Amino acid sequence: MKMKAAVMTEIGKPLAITEVELAPPQANEVLVKIKATGVCHSDYNALFDETTPIPTILGHEGAGIVVEVGPNVKTVKPGDKVALSWVPFCGTCEFCQTGKVNLCESAFGPMFAGTLLDGTTRLSKDGKQVYHNSLLSTFAEYTVVPEMSCVKLPDDMPFAQASLIGCGVATGYGAAVRAAEVRPGSTVAVFGIGGVGVNAIQGARIAGASKIIACDLKDQNLEIAKKFGATHTVNVGEVNAAEALKELTGGFGVHYAIDCTGNTHAASSAWQGTRKGGTTVVIGAFNPKKELALPAGGFHRVGKILKGSFYGDVHPFRDFPIIAQLYLEGKFQLDELVLSRIQLDEINQAFDSFHDHSCANVGRTVIEFGGK
Ligand SMILES: [Zn+2]
Ligand SMILES: [Zn+2]
Repeated sequence: MKMKAAVMTEIGKPLAITEVELAPPQANEVLVKIKATGVCHSDYNALFDETTPIPTILGHEGAGIVVEVGPNVKTVKPGDKVALSWVPFCGTCEFCQTGKVNLCESAFGPMFAGTLLDGTTRLSKDGKQVYHNSLLSTFAEYTVVPEMSCVKLPDDMPFAQASLIGCGVATGYGAAVRAAEVRPGSTVAVFGIGGVGVNAIQGARIAGASKIIACDLKDQNLEIAKKFGATHTVNVGEVNAAEALKELTGGFGVHYAIDCTGNTHAASSAWQGTRKGGTTVVIGAFNPKKELALPAGGFHRVGKILKGSFYGDVHPFRDFPIIAQLYLEGKFQLDELVLSRIQLDEINQAFDSFHDHSCANVGRTVIEFGGK
């Protein structure tokens, strides 16, 4: 079928709004009509990344309606409302079989190659192959995705809000609920108030934390954090973060610290502000050239857990419907994350807005597609 899409044809250049060809879904694949897609900072980064295969269709935050399913598809059917997950999984490797689908062995090869799981593409233009992005490519009217990337949601879930679940929302929620396993009545610090951090705050709030301490360099972000459930704030540019956390928790430090910054210094502060027996979760990607420095004295005596977490340890089929249900019950804030709604033709303007580094980078511009 022919469809309209925003195609990345050159590194750093505006996307071309053009017609491309989409082949039908193969076994274990699903054809989805995209209804809404978030424009994420990661898409903007991919546009400037020398390793992005070209031409490609970016976009990894999407929601839509199932149009057609390939052979063997069991979990969705035409007409289902779905949200997409940008971390594909095979369902059969050792990690998938033990429930850690976020660590799937088979996912990253095709993800970096720009293909679907079988190593081929369904996208083309003028007979030449066009690459997929995160096996989703949502900056298009339609997409073909693996069944395992496609999660059924309740019929009354609105598309714009649903489109955001699969990226920063799930990662932040999962960081608190799945990776840290925040307990009711506990104290939680969240470092880095952005698209992941505000949702880690929401996860901690839903898990019943009694004190949620937002830590960031910008007062503007700390104010936003309060709207999502932070009970206290610490400007880490003005005070020693670990000391401030101890002061707010009777001298012990927090039960759980979640670092969403990708900054090794912040992660070290988060660790030092975590109490004995507590857990520090690192969710941000560090610069691989850096080393994480922690005080060695007494390491064995404090019994703390330092845990890396990819995609918030979420299982999309378990957690996306939970987040959607929490939203529908008024317990999870997603409306506040939809900052503006545009059409596909306006995508390059949305990318231009990422040039403004003073923006809080918490919510999203969402592209909506009309029609039935
Ligand atoms: Zn994203
Ligand atoms: Zn797997």
